[in-house]
Amino acid sequence: MTTSPPVTAPPRRYGHFIGGQWVDGREEIDRAAPATGEVVSTVAAGEASDVDAAVAAARRAFDDGPWPRMTGFERAALLHRVAELIDAHADLFARLDAEEGGKPVRLSRGDVAGAAQLTRYAAGLAVQMHGSTYTNNGPDFTGLVLREPSGVAGLITPWNFPVLILCQKLPFALAAGCTVVVKPSEMTSSSTLELARLYAEAGLPEGALNVVTGDGRAGQALAEHHGVDVLSFTGSTATGRRILEASTGNLKKLSLELGGKAANIVFADADLEDAAEGVVFGGFFNNGECCVAQSRLLVQADVADAFLAEVAARAEKLRVGQPLDEATDVGALIHDRHLETVLGRVEEARRQGGEVVTGGGRSPEASLAAGQFLQPTILDRVTPDMSAFTEEIFAPVLTVSRFETVEDAVALANAVDYGLSNSVWSKDIDKALPVAKALRSGTVYVNTTIDAPPTMPFGGYKMSGVGREMGQAGFEEFTEVKSVNIRTGKRAGTFGIGAAHPTVA
Ligand code: NAD
Repeated sequence: MTTSPPVTAPPRRYGHFIGGQWVDGREEIDRAAPATGEVVSTVAAGEASDVDAAVAAARRAFDDGPWPRMTGFERAALLHRVAELIDAHADLFARLDAEEGGKPVRLSRGDVAGAAQLTRYAAGLAVQMHGSTYTNNGPDFTGLVLREPSGVAGLITPWNFPVLILCQKLPFALAAGCTVVVKPSEMTSSSTLELARLYAEAGLPEGALNVVTGDGRAGQALAEHHGVDVLSFTGSTATGRRILEASTGNLKKLSLELGGKAANIVFADADLEDAAEGVVFGGFFNNGECCVAQSRLLVQADVADAFLAEVAARAEKLRVGQPLDEATDVGALIHDRHLETVLGRVEEARRQGGEVVTGGGRSPEASLAAGQFLQPTILDRVTPDMSAFTEEIFAPVLTVSRFETVEDAVALANAVDYGLSNSVWSKDIDKALPVAKALRSGTVYVNTTIDAPPTMPFGGYKMSGVGREMGQAGFEEFTEVKSVNIRTGKRAGTFGIGAAHPTVA
């Protein structure tokens, strides 16, 4: 049974994409737009049997299909075709992710441009894939280190950047010669399914890319599956831990991109106007639903009051509105339970001594009453013993804490279990660079915030994850290295017990 995926206005309906076919599920999941409450898409609710079928298709495509056997140039050519198609369908992708995820369409359009750029970058890596040769293993030996695709890759993605995060994984896995099974978030699956359609249109061999939709049960089945060689996951730290446990059956290779609690450290000698713009962007970009949201402002005490007033004035100008409205800066939160949790977090911070500088509640706009809209919120006087300081809130909520010295700033920034990113604002490079080195996070931005060129590896220290995405390091997550040591000629005594041997015991 097949279902052709529509590319028209909602409601959309999709099956799984397995072995090049659209396959209906036994049950389905409706997605209601978080801005309106109306159902905009329906996807198949994947079960273990669907995951089995998808992994089997990916396995066949890896073991017997053309994709892993193509040259790097051939794989790159296909990825370039897909990048062109992503550009050509930019409006569609931007709309799907805004409608289902609640994010402002303007930002969603940036995600789509990023997705195309990542695909082009990965195409270059397909061409560059190479190993190395050791000529110093002894006169009769030549050591080859072969770089090979890992095999079948499972990719599990979250809802906050559906097409962008998919493209931090998928073209890299394919560039390496892996075949793939994707499990997107049940809340934002449409753009992943539409991208699968474009890969097929570009000529990707059947079975090289499969998509199983559904909730955590489908993700769990993929994480447990013995036929999956490498699993790349982006999502919460709690789910990451479950995936780590689920993967032990076959000890599959894992890459986990998890939560964050980044600090924007603003020193008194920063360009404060520039920093204020960056702090507002870092705190409220993508509704604050961003793993690298710079959700803690740490500001040097002597400029704190004036700086906070400037940040608050800018935050109050942000337009909360419908995700599909081009003028919207902050859209709808992902679902009603999340909004309730966030409101609870704000209330808890208030009880613990935090002061609400601006926002703090649902948007009062009558036209937004049907959706999950929160006012951009700033909480001052937040201290490290408060959960608002240590826990990911994942919403347009910025906490403010003050510091005196460079050492205090570093200690405060590092006083959380997460270590994904941080930002430093100072015009003194003799200060900013040592601070960047002292911060325990996989990324540090200096006089900028939340930008991630595809060339640079991205990932977490501490509980923000394991492994890296993007850059050469991200590509290598989808590869294995194999050592081949070749002996030439024949010298008597090479293998005699006790004979001198050039290799390790
Ligand atoms: P989530 O962990 O709830 O879900 C992520 C994905 O995992 C979804 O596809 C979900 O269906 C699936 N899943 C749920 N339970 C599973 C299980 N037991 N086994 C396997 N898969 C399962 O995360 P979310 O709410 O979609 O996303 C928000 C979280 O993601 C935040 O914590 C955020 O910081 C994090 N995130 C991290 C990065 C990064 O690069 N480090 C990027 C974006 C988001």
